[in-house]
Amino acid sequence: MNIDIKAVENQLRDIFEENYEFIKAEGRHSITDFIKQEAFNQILYYFRKNIELIKKITEAKVKLTLPERISPIQNLKYTIEGIIDIVREGDETWMYDLKTHDRFSIENNKDLYRQQLNVYAYIWKRLRKNDLDNTAIISTSLPNTLKGAIRNGNAEYIKYEMEAWNPVIPMGYSEDEIESIIEQFGKTVEDIENNRFTAPPTEKLFEKEKGERNIFAVRVCRNCDARFSCDSFREYVRQSDRGNQGLRKYLDDYGTDFSTEDFIEGNLLE
Ligand code: SF4
Repeated sequence: MNIDIKAVENQLRDIFEENYEFIKAEGRHSITDFIKQEAFNQILYYFRKNIELIKKITEAKVKLTLPERISPIQNLKYTIEGIIDIVREGDETWMYDLKTHDRFSIENNKDLYRQQLNVYAYIWKRLRKNDLDNTAIISTSLPNTLKGAIRNGNAEYIKYEMEAWNPVIPMGYSEDEIESIIEQFGKTVEDIENNRFTAPPTEKLFEKEKGERNIFAVRVCRNCDARFSCDSFREYVRQSDRGNQGLRKYLDDYGTDFSTEDFIEGNLLE
């Protein structure tokens, strides 16, 4: 398949600007030009890095649904849905799922990601009767070294970091735990329906789990929609406010980080 790379990149810029205006109007968030450019870089360099894989996608944005599930204790009905891409090459069929999380974090929580992908793979293979040999996650988050090279602007440095970047993380496929994973989904549905949303204590937000680079507040809370109404997060911000710039830190550091994710999700996954 021949692709006019320049034309696609221009189109990406147009779609990004459109989504940015939409999200800004809808969420009333605003971000600095720097953060906006960083968000667009993530999309642009993701596209440049994965162009060969993108060309091979045989089915894009496949919606998978597992309807009419019943939760384990309260018999509540729920449906599991996911969107994936399929690549068939030669005799092999791979399923890909995009995540905006960084490679390091995905590798450290591989079981969680694998469980979700295995449910999608089960729907694709067993219920829809398609071929499948393997699954993988594509981490769209740029490595810090590549971000540094892009900011530096040196073409050789960028090329080197692009070549060193490997965003594809194979996950394998197993049906061993499918039933217990689906049951776990059902328990989560029951927690949601019963308003069991207790946030962890503030101390937990300062904790760094084994193998993780970031504390819970940075790794998890910055992606959480509820953080501005979460007492634990508010207390975390208050305690970590070293320069008495609490409100600014609250809105700038965390707010803009979240907005970046928002724009990236919106542009990559729409
Ligand atoms: S901000 Fe969200 S993820 Fe973080 S503790 Fe509060 S509810 Fe949990």
